[in-house]
Amino acid sequence: MNQRDESSLPPIDRMLPNPSGLNADFYRIAAETGVINIQRCSDCSAYRHPPRFRCAACGSDAWSWSPTSMRGVVWSWTITHRAIDPAFAEQLPYVVVVVEMEEGVRVVGNLRSIEISELRIGLPVAVLLDKRSEALALIDFTPR
Ligand SMILES: [Zn+2]
Repeated sequence: MNQRDESSLPPIDRMLPNPSGLNADFYRIAAETGVINIQRCSDCSAYRHPPRFRCAACGSDAWSWSPTSMRGVVWSWTITHRAIDPAFAEQLPYVVVVVEMEEGVRVVGNLRSIEISELRIGLPVAVLLDKRSEALALIDFTPR
């Protein structure tokens, strides 16, 4: 009954993020390439997310986008039982996870294709990008 699958995707008319600046670049690159890219410091090689202008490890403002492995593990989650946006009503309850990517950064997204009773910290997951436009791909995860 709590099974998540492709048919549980919210409809296309759901509210969508309207990111700006470096966040807009993050979502656009995901839509364009089909891969989550995160910032990597050009001086100390530290990964960072969400996007920002300076490295928290060394202070450098030199960086580039770096493709991720698209894999991680569940670090935390919440289960939503009430839909603020009616577009989500048929998906209730749904799971939002914080995933620690193999690169060490944490990324938020929906977890699909899982029984809620199977949720656990450290669950291996893979990214499923949900491309909504040329400028935006939503981030979902699925067990791997
Ligand atoms: Zn650095």
